[in-house]
Amino acid sequence: MTNIDLRSAKRLVEAIRLGEVSIVDVVEASLNKIKELDKDINAFITINSKKALAAAESLDTKLKRGEKVGALCGLPIAVKDVISTAGLETTCGSKILKGYIPPYDATVVAKLKEAGAVIVGKTNTDEFAMGSTTEFSAFGPTRNPVDKSRVAGGSSGGSGAAVAAGMVPLSLGSDTGGSIRCPAAFCGVVGLKPTYGSVSRYGLISYANSLEQIGPFAANVDDCALLFQCISGWDPMDSTSYRNPPKVESSKICRRVAVPKEFFGEGVEDAVARSVWRGIEALKDGGYVVEEVSLSTLDYALPAYYIIAMAEASSNLARFDGLRYGLSLKSGYRDWNTYFSKCRAKGFGPEVKRRILLGTYVLSAGYYGAYYLKAQKIRNILKTQFQQLFTKYGLIAGPTMPTTPFKIGEKIEDPLLMYMIDINTVPPNLTGHPAISVPVHKEGELPVGLQIIAPYFCEERLFQAAKIVEESLRRQ
Ligand code: GLN
Repeated sequence: MTNIDLRSAKRLVEAIRLGEVSIVDVVEASLNKIKELDKDINAFITINSKKALAAAESLDTKLKRGEKVGALCGLPIAVKDVISTAGLETTCGSKILKGYIPPYDATVVAKLKEAGAVIVGKTNTDEFAMGSTTEFSAFGPTRNPVDKSRVAGGSSGGSGAAVAAGMVPLSLGSDTGGSIRCPAAFCGVVGLKPTYGSVSRYGLISYANSLEQIGPFAANVDDCALLFQCISGWDPMDSTSYRNPPKVESSKICRRVAVPKEFFGEGVEDAVARSVWRGIEALKDGGYVVEEVSLSTLDYALPAYYIIAMAEASSNLARFDGLRYGLSLKSGYRDWNTYFSKCRAKGFGPEVKRRILLGTYVLSAGYYGAYYLKAQKIRNILKTQFQQLFTKYGLIAGPTMPTTPFKIGEKIEDPLLMYMIDINTVPPNLTGHPAISVPVHKEGELPVGLQIIAPYFCEERLFQAAKIVEESLRRQ
C-alpha cells in the first residue's frame, strides 16, 4: 500500500486504530516516499528501514493482541541528526561524528518510542545545528520541496522538508536561534520552539545549552500540538527541565496581540510583510485585538545571540577530539595536542571552525567584558521587556523570517548576511519564551511563516491562535 497520505498524523492514528491500515503499511508508505523523493531533496542522512519495519511489525502484533499502543500509534517519524538514537548513527551533520553510534536514546526519543512512534531516519542539519539553510551540512544541502532550487531553511532543514514533502507526518528538530521555525516557515509547515525547560535536552548534542530546545514539526497545528504533548515534561536527567511548570490562567489579556514594529524592520521583503499581515488580520477576524508596539532592545538581540551562542559552542565542541567519538586518525603524531588539532582541522567544517574561533575570542580574558558580559546584559534587558509586554498582551506576533526561501548558494559566501536572517527568531531563544511558526502564504506563492510568541509555558495559547490563522487561511 503506497497511496497512504502521510500529511495528517491524527487521521493516520484513527485509520490505524480502526484497522483500516496496518502500522507496517504506514511505515512502508513512508519509507517508499523517502526512497522516491529523497534523492532530490536530501532530507535524510540515515534511513532506518530495517529496524523501522521490525518495530512496525511488533507494534501491529501488540495492536492485534489488544495491548496498549501509545498516542503516536505506529506513526513514522524523522529525528534531527543532533539527537541521540541508541544503535543508530548520529552525525550532527559533521564529518567529525561520521560513524558515531550513540549507546543510549535521548529522553525525547525514549518518549517517542513509548508513545508508539517508529523512527524512520535521521534528518539533515547544518553541522552541529550552526546555520540557517542546511548548506553547512557535511552531507550536502537539503532542497526545499516547494522549489528544489531553493534552501529548505535550517538548521533543521531535513526535518522541515521531510514533513513538507509528505515523507513523514511528524518530525523533531532543535531550535537554538530559529532552527525549527526557519525551516517551518521556508517549507510551509508548522514548527514550535517550546518554552526553555519544557522538553528534556538529555541526549541532544549541544550547540548552545542556554538557548536551545527540541521541538516538533507537523503539517498542521493539531499534529504539532500532539507531538509536543508526547515529548514535553520533566526529566531527572536534565537539570534545566521544569518539574512543575506554573499553571497559567486564561484571562482577557490572552486575546491581545502585540506586533513590534522592529519585526518589520530593514530587510523584510514585501511579499513576507503582505502574507504576515494576512495572518494577523485572520487573528483579528478570530476575535483578537492587535496593537502595534515598539521594543527597542530587539535591535540588539541578534549580536547578543551570536556572541552567546558562539561562546557556548566553543566550549561544547571541545569534547570532539578524535579520541572519544566518531572520526579518529591513524596514530603516528608526536603528541596529543598535534593529534587533537589534526582531527579537529579535518573533522570540522569552515562554519563550525569560525564559531569556535569567535566563541573562544569573546570569552578570552580582556574581551569577556566587552562582548560576552555585555551580551548577557542585553539578554536580561530583553527578558524584562518581554515580561513587561506580557503583562499587557497575551501574544507577540510578526514575520518568522524576513525573506522567502532564497536560492541555494545565494548567501553562503557572506556569513553576516546569513546571520541577519535570524533577526526575528533569536529573541525568544534569548528570553526562553515559546514561539510557533504557522504558514500564511497563498497557494502557489513561496512559503511565509507567521511567528507567534507566548508567555512561558503557554504553548496551548500558541496552538489556539495558530489554529485560528490556519483555519481562516484555508477558507480563503
Ligand atoms: N541560525 C542560527 C545559528 O546559526 C540558529 C541555529 C539553530 O537554531 N540551531 O546559530
